[in-house]
Amino acid sequence: MVEQYAATLHPEKTEQVSLEKSLGRVLAESITADRDLPPFPRSARDGYAVRVEDLRGAVMSLKILGELKAGGDAGKFRIGEGECISIMTGAAVPNGANAVVMVEYTKLNGSFVTFQRGAEPGENIVPRGSEAHVGQELVARGTRIGHAAIAAAASVGQAELAVYPRPTVAILATGDELVPLDAAPGPYQIRNSNSFSLAAQVRAAGGAPSILPTSPDDPNRLRELIAEGLQSDLLLLSGGVSMGKYDIVESVLAEFGVRFLFIGALIQPGKPVVFGEATMNGGRRTRVFGLPGNPVSTMVTFELLVRPVLEALAGRPVRALRFVQARLAGDLRTKLGLTRFLPARLTGKMGDVQAERLNWQGSGDVVTVVEASCYIVVPPDRELITAGEMVSILVPGADL
Ligand code: AMP
Ligand code: MG
Repeated sequence: MVEQYAATLHPEKTEQVSLEKSLGRVLAESITADRDLPPFPRSARDGYAVRVEDLRGAVMSLKILGELKAGGDAGKFRIGEGECISIMTGAAVPNGANAVVMVEYTKLNGSFVTFQRGAEPGENIVPRGSEAHVGQELVARGTRIGHAAIAAAASVGQAELAVYPRPTVAILATGDELVPLDAAPGPYQIRNSNSFSLAAQVRAAGGAPSILPTSPDDPNRLRELIAEGLQSDLLLLSGGVSMGKYDIVESVLAEFGVRFLFIGALIQPGKPVVFGEATMNGGRRTRVFGLPGNPVSTMVTFELLVRPVLEALAGRPVRALRFVQARLAGDLRTKLGLTRFLPARLTGKMGDVQAERLNWQGSGDVVTVVEASCYIVVPPDRELITAGEMVSILVPGADL
């Protein structure tokens, strides 16, 4: 549902960034090879470049013509019958040679070398153009740039890259009970944590967050702050979307002509979440989520629903959420009807990853999620999952 909507979103502008500052940005152009990769047949080992046909006799000894290290001029050599070249990893294999024998299988005798074994044609040689041909796309437009894409860009000489701007994301926490971090909370007040966890999630997902002042549950002030927040590409509200008397977010959003794409989701935590689109004066569209105020609900709904929209606004292709599988560590009981996301820790070992559910106090329990590395996903039709069953795991923030 949210993915279908997200698939209609595309950034319009692009900007240039230096390669060094491109980590986490989204490519607005494709990176192509400016020459064959590797640009020459590359020796993959330290050893001797040989003609395999010379290593078929009883005594395998060849004359060393010279030496080639990485970067060395291979063009000045041509290997003839009975000859070889001492070659290092990364050097171009000279004409005439069709294999490299590792130095470990040889013994040096003055200007000759004897071989303890023969070789197959092509052994330890990475052929020219075998990684990519000139002009070939190495990294596609829409890719979020990681260290491997940076290596690919550097290897083809791209010191600058065209990227999409980071979507701007306004964050607006609501609730009479909230106090800012620098104020002493009264006995029945709490500190606003959602604005900060959301800003962190936004940043990690490639957005540029800005935190608005918190709003009391008062329509006038909320209206002012929503108007400000709608100037961004995306507005994230937290709190005030449940069924309580002071849950006014949805009605105030409606005053702005927000077209709701969904109201509520069959998930727990996060059931009251709302999502809509506002059309501003001048026709510009912006998107708005009303996320539930319970901190873990805010985190989970971000991961499931906000992230696909944010990534699409950032220029990434939309794809279905991905889950990994792990073995459940202990029996697990829940109620039917909603897809549940239960904070868990991954334990076990390689080849047998286990998910251990954490004991928590419900979706207001920030302390327990600090310990969690993931959520166990329980389908709506399961009341009991027994230890040892494979379960789906949502790993927050993972680019799977
Ligand atoms: P609400 O969704 O407004 O009904 O809030 C649900 C719960 O989340 C209440 O216990 C709130 O006090 C708490 N809550 C709401 N907003 C925040 C926030 N920004 N930071 C921490 N807790 C919050
Ligand atoms: Mg509230």
